[in-house]
Amino acid sequence: MNSPTHAVAVTHTLRLKVKPGAAAWLNAAASEVNAVWNWANEVSARAAQPFAGRPKWLSGFELNNLSAGGTQYFEKIGADTIQRVNGEYAAKRRAAGRCQLRWRVSRGARRSLGWVPFKAASLKRKGEALRFGGKTFRVFEGERLNGVKWQQGCFAQDAVGDWWLCLPVEVGVEQTAAPCEAVGIDLGLKTVAVTSDGERCEAGCSYRGIEQRIAQAQRRGHRHQAKRLHRRAANRRRDALHKFSRRIVDRYQNIVVGDVSSTRLAQTRMAKSVLDSGWGMLRQMLRYKGEHAGRSVSVACESYTSRACSSCGSLTGPQGVNGLRVRRWRCASCGESHDRDVNAARNLLRRAEVSVSVRGNESPPLPVPPRRAARSRRAGTESAGAAA
Ligand SMILES: [Zn+2]
Repeated sequence: MNSPTHAVAVTHTLRLKVKPGAAAWLNAAASEVNAVWNWANEVSARAAQPFAGRPKWLSGFELNNLSAGGTQYFEKIGADTIQRVNGEYAAKRRAAGRCQLRWRVSRGARRSLGWVPFKAASLKRKGEALRFGGKTFRVFEGERLNGVKWQQGCFAQDAVGDWWLCLPVEVGVEQTAAPCEAVGIDLGLKTVAVTSDGERCEAGCSYRGIEQRIAQAQRRGHRHQAKRLHRRAANRRRDALHKFSRRIVDRYQNIVVGDVSSTRLAQTRMAKSVLDSGWGMLRQMLRYKGEHAGRSVSVACESYTSRACSSCGSLTGPQGVNGLRVRRWRCASCGESHDRDVNAARNLLRRAEVSVSVRGNESPPLPVPPRRAARSRRAGTESAGAAA
């Protein structure tokens, strides 16, 4: 069963916190970046809707030509940053399909979070420190830059106001066969995720503990402290999801996740728990980590997975809103006792197996009435339309 290992290169973003000494410089550089962005916004909008002549959709290359020599107006940023801003602007505008994007704001309450992109050559290592734009930077955990080569990168500010150095770097990962064959993962509100083998990921409670302190800070008008607590909660949540997804990808070859969508539930009272649990984040992590490790990650339809018995397939489980409270139940037709979430995860796994099986599966597939499927599909396109 030992398949040969082989290495693949994947892109991974290094995030290093910049020591506070450089904050003032970066804030100033960020307002210059905003000026470039807003210039690109104005020029492109004018070219796309001219008073006379033919409309033109400016590319990043054309913006670079137009902004040539612009560095003389700026103290901090250089030509490479201006070109990166132009490139990013053109890409964003193309993706949005509009002739104008939002302005970047440098001051006031609606200030945009700082962002200073650059190209590889302009960020240099100098011993323990880094040089960029004639300024020396220090970062925490600088040793993580040892032996790392970057193509480009950016300084980015978070909501708390701290600056981070973000460098997309290529790292080699080894692909090996997983020890276990397959797993189903049920996404839920109480526990973020439960596997068909009974393992749980409890990332949701992280926010609940901090929630009261956030509310207290907001009542007292401590906005900065509230932002800090929000960031801490988000970090903890992401950390728990990273650990869980790593465990799953290391252990299983085929991974099946439920298709439950948080955008639809987020409009109801459940919003907080839903946003809390970060299903989308977990699915995304499983997808890219699985891809890197050579696993198959699929998404299966989640309807009826909590009602159907995973042993005999009959619909004997709890249903409706009251059913949400039932954590354990016994199947009336085969007598098997189930944990609600583990049963759902097993059903997901079986559903995926049935749809891809070439061996033919003895157990009957789970019922999905067409009415229900049509409705969920419609709701899906509606929410997609609303998001666009
Ligand atoms: Zn049963």
